[in-house]
Amino acid sequence: MKKFVIVGASSAGLISAGLIKTYWKNEVEVSVYYDAKNKGVSVGESTIPDILQFLHMMDIPIESFLSNTNTTIKTGIKFKDWTPNTEFFHGFGELGPQVEGGHGPEIYSILNDDFCSRLYNKPTTTVPSSLMQDFSGRHAFHIDAKEFTDYLFNYMKKAINFVDDTVEKVNVDGENITSIECKNSGTVTADYFIDATGFSRLLFKNLDPKWNDLSDYLPINRAIPQQIPYKFDELPSYTLSEATDNGWIWQIPIRNRYGTGYMYSSRFTSDDEAREKYNAWLLKNFNTELQTDRIIKYESGYYEDYWIGNCLSVGLANGFIEPLESTGIHLAQQSISTFILCNPSLSDLDYNRVQANEHNRWVYECIFRFITLHYNTNRTDSEFWKYMTENKTEWVKMFDEKCRTEYMEPELLSFGMYLWDTASYLQIANGLKMINKESLVNYLNSKRDVPFKTTYPSGIDIHRSSEQQYLDIKNHRRHSKYVSHKKLIDSYHTARGFKS
Ligand SMILES: Cc1cc2nc3c(=O)[nH]c(=O)nc-3n(C[C@H](O)[C@H](O)[C@H](O)COP(=O)(O)OP(=O)(O)OC[C@H]3O[C@@H](n4cnc5c(N)ncnc54)[C@H](O)[C@@H]3O)c2cc1C
Repeated sequence: MKKFVIVGASSAGLISAGLIKTYWKNEVEVSVYYDAKNKGVSVGESTIPDILQFLHMMDIPIESFLSNTNTTIKTGIKFKDWTPNTEFFHGFGELGPQVEGGHGPEIYSILNDDFCSRLYNKPTTTVPSSLMQDFSGRHAFHIDAKEFTDYLFNYMKKAINFVDDTVEKVNVDGENITSIECKNSGTVTADYFIDATGFSRLLFKNLDPKWNDLSDYLPINRAIPQQIPYKFDELPSYTLSEATDNGWIWQIPIRNRYGTGYMYSSRFTSDDEAREKYNAWLLKNFNTELQTDRIIKYESGYYEDYWIGNCLSVGLANGFIEPLESTGIHLAQQSISTFILCNPSLSDLDYNRVQANEHNRWVYECIFRFITLHYNTNRTDSEFWKYMTENKTEWVKMFDEKCRTEYMEPELLSFGMYLWDTASYLQIANGLKMINKESLVNYLNSKRDVPFKTTYPSGIDIHRSSEQQYLDIKNHRRHSKYVSHKKLIDSYHTARGFKS
């Protein structure tokens, strides 16, 4: 039996414990050491569809999860003012089969100013009625961070050995952690240690890991979070990300409140100025004042190797890329899943470790790229936006040129295809006005008929199949029923709901 010691019982620690125990069952003993007085950052409340996969893997009934927490449904993100006075939506949900050559309905959608590639293609307060029977679709949840971890903690209590204790010292021999020393439990040894201690990176930092700093391109490094109790008449089924003159603000609807937070860079805004701006936003939008002194500080980046010797860093301990596309919780899930996939026999081979590290790096790089694309606004109305406009990555510049001159076809986007497909990239590119109809028409005209039709469809074929997909989706949408998000969520909380 292999012994795992996880330090940290916020979402990264709990996800790690749950997945490891679910996979190896009685072959492993899993203990989680955590400091009950330290609840972690407690702000990650917007998720992506993979959270459903996690809940399914853990055998957690969705109905029980919904009825015991204030979770709501998320169909996508509304981006407001990323170019001032405009809005666009990045929705989840594929519909219809991919057509020949991999082009979806986007081309027709863009040419006709009606983005219709997605099940959820606009921000609303409704959700598909099919969700009442089937939660296997491509949507995500808005969760209350504390409730989420409390729920997981209670759910796992029987299978996992939870120890409320503080780690005070970490003992290292070369690339391995030999033991940790806890305030009450004394010396604790293990075959594997997992560092899920958040930004303190308590264990992993002792292994001399190489940090990949992303702050030149993503300089935001501060967050001020504030919760706002709220009585919803209708419940938005989307996260709002509103750009400000020096960063952006998240607004996440949970059943009984909004979670909001102001993201800014200390290189361009002082804490006092940020507080003042955020206060003004809170007053304008919610008629409430800023009620917290809390400022979360971090640096954008990640450890190039997340698995060194017998230790893995997971969640914020591994790194952090700003939460514009809500990837934090998912990253913990993916890091541990990759570890499991690469090391199923727990033989701990160097080859497996290298593979896992490479994959993890690629995941962070893909997320980094997608996030930097959101900043391709060409805004210059503040020092922050000027910097973002003048400091684009080479990849963003190339992507931008490609969209403006030709078109971003799916087969040429293969690197970034982790988590998001072409439809996602195009929703952002289209929302930020990178796509130019004239170039798109020229691009289609340049695609000639060639003998290898399957690989090289002509422009006419691409256009025709894109139109067909568009019409299929329109038709599907016409026949789909949408119900009030609030009514659906409330139904889980009524006496007749699905109380576990
Ligand atoms: C501003 C901001 C916004 C975010 N928004 C999102 C979002 O919308 N969506 C999303 O998916 N993610 C988001 N995230 C990321 C998300 O919050 C994290 O992925 C999530 O909270 C997991 O954090 P963690 O478990 O890695 O660390 P933490 O939450 O910081 O937990 C650390 C744990 O370590 C324990 N610990 C620390 N020191 C010791 C010690 N000495 N001894 C014992 N135990 C110790 C603590 O008790 C705690 O349990 C956001 C993060 C930030 C900073």
